[in-house]
Amino acid sequence: MGSTLAGTAGTESGADHAETLIRTEDLHKYYQLGDNRVHALRGISLQIARGEFIAVMGASGSGKSTFMNILGCLDQPSSGRYLLENIDVSTLGKKQLASIRNRKIGFVFQGFNLLARTTALENAELPAFYARVAPEERVRRATKALEMVGLADRMDHFPSQLSGGQQQRVAIARALVNAPSILLADEPTGNLDSRTSVEVMEILQNLNQERGLTIVLVTHEPDIANFCKRAVVFRDGRIKKDEPIANRSIAAEVLKNLPAIEDEE
Ligand code: ADP
Repeated sequence: MGSTLAGTAGTESGADHAETLIRTEDLHKYYQLGDNRVHALRGISLQIARGEFIAVMGASGSGKSTFMNILGCLDQPSSGRYLLENIDVSTLGKKQLASIRNRKIGFVFQGFNLLARTTALENAELPAFYARVAPEERVRRATKALEMVGLADRMDHFPSQLSGGQQQRVAIARALVNAPSILLADEPTGNLDSRTSVEVMEILQNLNQERGLTIVLVTHEPDIANFCKRAVVFRDGRIKKDEPIANRSIAAEVLKNLPAIEDEE
């Protein structure tokens, strides 16, 4: 595929031999809280291949955010190794980490985090702006990313003129604009009603299926996790369960059986 957005499509590999994108080896993370030392991660070893779609689950306080912050190069482990596309990220300094983060990782948050006085197009352009991409190229990429999430006709809208689901789609487009190796989504459907949640999961499933985008998604909801391909469950800083999702839900199918809500025009 000619596309430089949304990572590499899985066309070059012969399917079974998926390339390892992320490898964590015995990650530990301690937080110092006054006299107390919190042991938030207690030996996380995990491999993520290109093209996976993983749900990260677990009770509050089990270490999910700590783990996602490390995956997203927002924080460093106290010990252990983190290899992202064979780069040992755990040894990098702040500046290098920021550069890797900007080029290789797309983030989607529960609260969308869009700039209010900025159009959908400009919001989607932002990571490319930080990556010092030339203006015409930024617009080209952001336009393409918005088309990929079905918002070609909403480019000039401000966030306040968009529904929650549309805002989250802008956020997904923004996350894709630098063609990241991986998309990290933290409760991306947490603020959305159930139909809109499935619509967002449909977009993520399409990006994963058709463009080979690797996705790691934190969710509390088993119904949402069921759209992913693999579930990793945290408990007390350890991985308690790591298994493929059986009987995976297909969002496009689920949507057919959900009552439609009126279209926001
Ligand atoms: P989850 O995302 O699953 O709710 P977290 O990764 O946020 O779990 O937290 C794991 C543990 O680490 C919890 O005991 C939490 O209180 C603690 N923790 C998380 N962040 C910090 C921090 N910045 N300082 C001190 N303790 C923290």
